[in-house]
Amino acid sequence: MRDTLVLNASFEPLSTVTLNRAVVLVLQDKAVVEQAHPELRMRGAALDIPAPRVIRLCRYVRVPFRRQAPWSRRGVLVRDRHKCAYCGRRATTVDHVVPRAQGGQDSWLNTVASCADDNHRKAARTPEQAGMPLLRRPFEPTPADAMLLALGRDELEALPEWLAQPA
Ligand SMILES: [Zn+2]
Repeated sequence: MRDTLVLNASFEPLSTVTLNRAVVLVLQDKAVVEQAHPELRMRGAALDIPAPRVIRLCRYVRVPFRRQAPWSRRGVLVRDRHKCAYCGRRATTVDHVVPRAQGGQDSWLNTVASCADDNHRKAARTPEQAGMPLLRRPFEPTPADAMLLALGRDELEALPEWLAQPA
């Protein structure tokens, strides 16, 4: 899968995203196509457009893309796609892997999305102490993730089926 270069509204290169995400940003009027692949098109039921090679954001986004994204509860939920790290069901809360009571920090690597039940059950214990293994390890968002967080990645999760593959 080819990646698309994303420029800020100021034309400064920011990051790359997948072709699918680039098309969704354009369809949501969050970005415009600056350069398209001459031979590659994205086709769907109501759409047939050249695959964007370079897009430019419509509004200037001020985020420390090249450094660590600032931690936030919302960011953790978005990073984990609102899936509980313990059972995989829909998550509405953020759990500290090492509880704050045991010195755990508000950080990307120490927090995961969690359903309210599991968060309550785990309480002020580590996963080992609670016998609740993590389904996946928490991670720091990449610069591309950080940019999508800044743009509101929640909306981007709803990728139309027909955008699954470029035609
Ligand atoms: Zn759960």
